[in-house]
Amino acid sequence: HQAEDLSKSCVIYDAELSEKILDQIVLESDMHKALSNEEFYLVYQPQVNSKTGKVFAVEALIRWEHPTRGLISPAEFIPMVEKSGLIISIGEWVMNTACRQLKTWHEQGCLDLAVSVNLSTRQFYQENLVETVESILRKYDVPGYFLKLEITESMAMVNLEHSIRVLHNLKKLGIQIAIDDFGTGYCSLSYLKDLPFDLIKIDRSFIQNLDAANHSDLTILSMARFLHMRVIAEGVETLGQVELLNEKECYHIQGYLFSQPLKPQDVIGKIQQIEQQFEKESGETL
Ligand code: C2E
Ligand code: MG
Ligand code: MG
Ligand code: MG
Repeated sequence: HQAEDLSKSCVIYDAELSEKILDQIVLESDMHKALSNEEFYLVYQPQVNSKTGKVFAVEALIRWEHPTRGLISPAEFIPMVEKSGLIISIGEWVMNTACRQLKTWHEQGCLDLAVSVNLSTRQFYQENLVETVESILRKYDVPGYFLKLEITESMAMVNLEHSIRVLHNLKKLGIQIAIDDFGTGYCSLSYLKDLPFDLIKIDRSFIQNLDAANHSDLTILSMARFLHMRVIAEGVETLGQVELLNEKECYHIQGYLFSQPLKPQDVIGKIQQIEQQFEKESGETL
């Protein structure tokens, strides 16, 4: 009874807060139907080699088209699904959809294209993650080499021993591991060197601060090099940023400059456009 009285007084005294909480509860219950109602879809953002002009991979990014609220960003709903445990089935759906789509692109002639998929913390710590991923790869006949999985430093840090073991097992399948949002977390070399990953994605916040006067921000690139890691720059929006990154021998670029995340049917056209544009421009400078 007391608890009930308490919650009532909350509603009375903090209407705004309770409205927010109610809103979350409604959204969470909507989420349970969203998967079966096919309200989720994936968009794909190209990753470009600025030296060769080739699109070598696309990152799969989830979207939720809510029937009444419209488009909801993953930054908003992923933390909610993460709490509800629904993330496991959504994560599996993402993996299935991305691999099936990749198979289609390969069949359409994009033979070298890889796909990068974000993992959530719960997914990464789920017991049968490796088996699940393996069976999805087998189902769509996609070699592990074409799949990249993105985790963050803080995810890996929850249990370093687990992370090392799982990453090793994923790598045995040929999968490449990327550290997402690099530079925003712990960034401690002492443990990073123990984690078997292949790629570092430098967070957009570093790229945003990048200008001619701000070279020091790229010490993070020296760090990646020290770890013998390949580097992808995230959130690249200007040619100036590309030039500065290239000066530091960072050629793998993802960002609005080359392309927004795209619906699957628009990906091949965009890849051709990016690659033709590059050929045209390098022809002009020759
Ligand atoms: P992320 O993995 O770091 O993805 C990069 C985010 O930066 C994406 O936001 C992308 O649209 C955005 N972005 C890319 N280039 C630019 C740029 O040039 N400028 C700006 N301003 N933004 C750029 P998005 O799609 O809203 O995703 C946000 C985050 O949600 C992702 O960050 C990722 O952590 C999470 N997420 C997205 N899809 C999934 C998924 O399928 N599963 C899981 N677990 N998390 C996901
Ligand atoms: Mg990512
Ligand atoms: Mg992220
Ligand atoms: Mg990121």
